[in-house]
Amino acid sequence: MTAAPVTPPIFDGHNDQLSKLLHDGDRRAFADNPGAAIDVARANTGGFAGGLFAIWIPSAQATGIDFGAMAAASFDVPLPDEVPRTTALPVAMAQIAILLDLERQGHLRICRTAAEIRSTMANNVMAAVLHMEGAEAIDEQLDTLDVFHAAGLRSLGPVWSRPNRFGHGVPFRFPGSPDTGPGLTPAGVRLVEHCNARRIMVDLSHITEAGFWDVARISKAPLVASHSNAHALCTTTRNLTDRQLSAIAETGGLVGINFAAAFLREDGRMSADVPLSRVLEHADYLIERLGEDGVGFGSDYDGAVVPAEISGVERLPRLRQAMADRGYGPALIAKLCHENWVGVLERTWGA
Ligand code: ZN
Repeated sequence: MTAAPVTPPIFDGHNDQLSKLLHDGDRRAFADNPGAAIDVARANTGGFAGGLFAIWIPSAQATGIDFGAMAAASFDVPLPDEVPRTTALPVAMAQIAILLDLERQGHLRICRTAAEIRSTMANNVMAAVLHMEGAEAIDEQLDTLDVFHAAGLRSLGPVWSRPNRFGHGVPFRFPGSPDTGPGLTPAGVRLVEHCNARRIMVDLSHITEAGFWDVARISKAPLVASHSNAHALCTTTRNLTDRQLSAIAETGGLVGINFAAAFLREDGRMSADVPLSRVLEHADYLIERLGEDGVGFGSDYDGAVVPAEISGVERLPRLRQAMADRGYGPALIAKLCHENWVGVLERTWGA
């Protein structure tokens, strides 16, 4: 007999599980992996129903960003070097292959429509949307984008923080504004137009403010930042200004609340000592700016230092309880947990 599902299920906007499984070299670990924030066993315990699984390409000289440097009172972490497409493409292929393998093992289902997400969650199977965080693996003619789309890609951030041929991202800097440099290149403009044509979601987390406004001007889809927070509460480059939030609200878009400590805390430190009330202060602020339909979660699990109280998916019932304790009603909690994400994906992809 299986236990009753923990509800409402949480479908969130960002995790780095594919990078972790590739780096660790053991994709079978996804079933039960105490060293990760997400595994299947604990997802059932915590009611984690899936979300956007990111393809992300490490630079040659660094597998990630230096969280130690981000624990300082102020910081400006040097970005790793740009990644050539010849390096990026096989890594992207390997990460997609891992996701396909997880589906073959029965751990999750790769979803391409909102209806598939809903039915997969209803069957208590993890729902995965293939996302790409930084378009290093894509060629300027966008042929690979069509191939990735055929393989299931439904969401794309033109840049991770590192620059590429399509645009510029924000460095990890605190304090700082997201207005750190140029935006999209001409190839980046074509990339966004092509995503619109294929109805691939364009993710604005990590892009510079100039790039954000470029996308806002070009894109016909709702504006979405899958894992970012409110700059008014935490003045890091990675968070969104009030003007950006207003633009997202105007398009019926969404922001996924990032659990990364450095983007939650007023002092900007990447330190796990963060009360859940701080997550909900960002939620309150974003709901005020975006409305109850414009906010979800974007955990950044397995890609950041997150609050100790929700260090892994099995602890997500604490987040639901904290929302209830704060006076959020069941309808709002369900919207934040998954309904808003599924809704904005449906508006982007079509029914
Ligand atoms: Zn990210």
